[in-house]
Amino acid sequence: MDARPNSPEARDIRYHMHGYTNARKHQETGPLVIEKGDGVYVEDIAGNRYIEAMAGLWSVAVGFSEKRLVEAATRQMSKLPFYHDFGSKAHSPLIDLAEKLVQMAPVPMSKAYFTNSGSEANDTAIKMIWYRSNALGQPARKKIISRKRGYHGVTIASASLTGLPNNHLSFDLPIANILHTSSTPHHWREAQPGESEEQFSARLADELEKLILAEGPETIAAFIGEPIMGAGGVIVPPAGYWEKIQAVLSKYGMLLVADEVICGFGRTGEMFGSQTFGIKPDIMVLSKQISSSYLPISALLINDKVFEPIADESDRIGTFGHGFTGGGHPVAAAVALENIKVIEERDLVGNARKVGAHLQARLRKLASHPLVGEVRGVGLIAAVELVADKATKVPWGKPAALGALVNGFLQQNGVISRNMGDAIAFCPPLIITEAQIDALVDAFERSLDAALPQVH
Ligand code: PLP
Repeated sequence: MDARPNSPEARDIRYHMHGYTNARKHQETGPLVIEKGDGVYVEDIAGNRYIEAMAGLWSVAVGFSEKRLVEAATRQMSKLPFYHDFGSKAHSPLIDLAEKLVQMAPVPMSKAYFTNSGSEANDTAIKMIWYRSNALGQPARKKIISRKRGYHGVTIASASLTGLPNNHLSFDLPIANILHTSSTPHHWREAQPGESEEQFSARLADELEKLILAEGPETIAAFIGEPIMGAGGVIVPPAGYWEKIQAVLSKYGMLLVADEVICGFGRTGEMFGSQTFGIKPDIMVLSKQISSSYLPISALLINDKVFEPIADESDRIGTFGHGFTGGGHPVAAAVALENIKVIEERDLVGNARKVGAHLQARLRKLASHPLVGEVRGVGLIAAVELVADKATKVPWGKPAALGALVNGFLQQNGVISRNMGDAIAFCPPLIITEAQIDALVDAFERSLDAALPQVH
């Protein structure tokens, strides 16, 4: 860190409060200031280059220097820098993007609704679900079931959906009407001895049904889940999980919300995670890779089961009283459209499948390393969970200590990743090559070896 009083690091400490950061510790450690991007690489202010193995925040599909997105933004900025969709107004990028998303959806969808972030989109999903229940004359049907370790955002309602302690502690969350399942669909960590993945899935579906019955099925409106849990530690569902969960939801007439904020637009080697796992959602929540995060934009896709009652209720009241100034922003929508074109034209979904298989194979070769408990992932999303003792799966010291240690070595070795507890996540841009994956995994291996003497 540059310790001069007016260095960018010092000014960051003086003036900037960070998201997801220990604010007190940051005053000692300071920031890593990233200055520019080039393909899968970013460079810090001191000129050090890193493979961005998290694609920023699971989001930069096309890499950090895609000129076509810059040009799309410039074109739209010159033509119409802002407009909105309130009171029946529209503009071409928004109409084009809505049409494109509805046509891309893996299940029949009726409409796209635009928001600015994953959190806003999930808050909007909750409001749509409540509004719909009222429209259907079922005002008691308001509870939404989410999952322990699911991640759905940080606004008051979406943070309530999130099933991670740090998003609730001292925030007085969750709010009423949000329930969480008691288990996480993580076979390696949570299955009973000898329980197969299918048996574990059946037990989780049974647990869900018991929760619905205990609460009263007439009070439950919907279930929300990410196809693969991302921020909860890249938890890949066990075999049969989504099939069995969806059977329970159908039995009780519940809606299903697929939070595709991370999985959407190719991450799993299919365009949507719902395709990878046979999920048939009523609402899909999209963000991040929709625009490669070059500009903030998110969207909900809703089917007729959701749209039609909402349309009736808005007619009864006089308007659908919800909307964001920046929802469907023309410049963000133009960037999203160009980004999706790039993903399709360059077959980045195919690349995620092919290069993703290489990533998964290379990481699985590390399974015998003394610090590796589990390697998991699909396509270009993976995690390696670190343990001090492979047999007992116990962490090293405090939970997350080993994850943070290895993550620190990784950064020294030229790779930016993130540790979710003791799981190191890998979620690189979809443009990554096999050679770049090799460099990434080699650096990871060196980092594991560097940590080993401190642990054993
Ligand atoms: N849903 C999922 C699955 C996410 O991973 C995230 C962010 O990481 C969100 C929602 C929240 O998105 P945002 O940070 O844009 O509010």
